[in-house]
Amino acid sequence: EKVEFIAYFHQIIDRFEMNVTEKITLKRELSSGKYNVWLDPDKMTQVLDNIISNAIKYSPNGGTIRFKVEREKYSLLVSVQDEGLGISYDKVHKIFERFYRADKARTRKLGGTGLGLAIAKELVEAHHGKIWAESKEGKGTTILFTLPLMNQKRRDTT
Ligand code: ATP
Ligand code: MG
Repeated sequence: EKVEFIAYFHQIIDRFEMNVTEKITLKRELSSGKYNVWLDPDKMTQVLDNIISNAIKYSPNGGTIRFKVEREKYSLLVSVQDEGLGISYDKVHKIFERFYRADKARTRKLGGTGLGLAIAKELVEAHHGKIWAESKEGKGTTILFTLPLMNQKRRDTT
């Protein structure tokens, strides 16, 4: 269905804001514009829940999580950036694989199955978007994905 993404994203962040500890700061750098995208809200919520839960799970005390939405020519670029322990260069491309968990010892105590990002990737691709990660060990991780914008020129018939 047609969804205005900025308002939708705010609602999702609001839900985390109510539950997150004071030790983590959530910062929104969302565009103030209105951007319509075609999406399945439940599935996109699953994508964002996975990404945001990871950011919280792997954030240190005092860490900030930044949410951004930037407009590109034909799509929105959505990103969630944390200041957690990061993922090493040789492992970062693997985190979207099923059951993959970087640093077994470290992540075992944090719990999880290693499916969250594999599902997120499947769902983003089902929305004709792309998802990837940028990370620096010790500095933090950013998960980014795109969502095609609805053609704003075409007259809306729905
Ligand atoms: P699940 O999501 O199924 O509960 P999980 O969080 O371990 O388990 P994914 O969300 O698929 O699984 O993430 C895969 C692995 O990628 C994680 O185990 C972790 O090693 C690494 N990872 C994901 N997000 C981050 C992040 N924000 N910072 C550091 N490492 C991350
Ligand atoms: Mg996860």
